[in-house]
Amino acid sequence: MFFSSAEPTPYDLRFSLLGIPVRVHPFFWLFSAMMGWAARDPGATAVWVACVFFSILVHEFGHALVLQAQGMSPEVVLHAFGGYASPQYQRRTSTWQRVGMLFAGPAAGFLLYALVRLLLSLPAFREWISPIEFDTQGKFRLRQAMSQLLFINLWWGLMNLLPVYPLDGGQITRELLQTWFPWRGLEYSLQISLSVSGMLAAWFLFGSSSQQPYAGILFASMAFESFQALQSRRY
Ligand SMILES: [Zn+2]
Repeated sequence: MFFSSAEPTPYDLRFSLLGIPVRVHPFFWLFSAMMGWAARDPGATAVWVACVFFSILVHEFGHALVLQAQGMSPEVVLHAFGGYASPQYQRRTSTWQRVGMLFAGPAAGFLLYALVRLLLSLPAFREWISPIEFDTQGKFRLRQAMSQLLFINLWWGLMNLLPVYPLDGGQITRELLQTWFPWRGLEYSLQISLSVSGMLAAWFLFGSSSQQPYAGILFASMAFESFQALQSRRY
């Protein structure tokens, strides 16, 4: 779950999967392509966009299938920096039901990671995909796609579990702290979110060996959001 709304546009791609409606905002394609832009190899950009699309869809379906099992008809939306699965109507749920629903997104991604790993460990598949000297364009792209699927589903899944708003981990932290500290839980979770995202933003933006401007800007905007939420609670 990432940022909370994207207005419908006439250019949205709409379909439905396992009875769950899916909407893809045009900015989703734009931002994914920008993130994986390879000027000399448009094919590589296309493979990257396809992997991001499939991975985020799997992540959101992790949330959506649990919402559906809990009796709420969800809708999945993919937009600029990710996506979200939102229930069409709310139902009363327990803390653990909400934590389970939040965890199901990253868990679905880890499952996809494990499946790709498993496929790559099968001797017959390895033999078929590995000899580079008899490479075809299709095999080359498939190898590319598999290594990107491994990267996205492991690292984005772990990143999503950080205790930072509005990532899944930040929402899990809020749910748990609000249960343990009914009065101060929300504030504690925002303080944790602000400190962790602030440190990560500084590390990604200014760290000598770790410069990743996209991640830096993303964590800086999340730190700002937590800061604002804390301020508006105080005054
Ligand atoms: Zn999520």
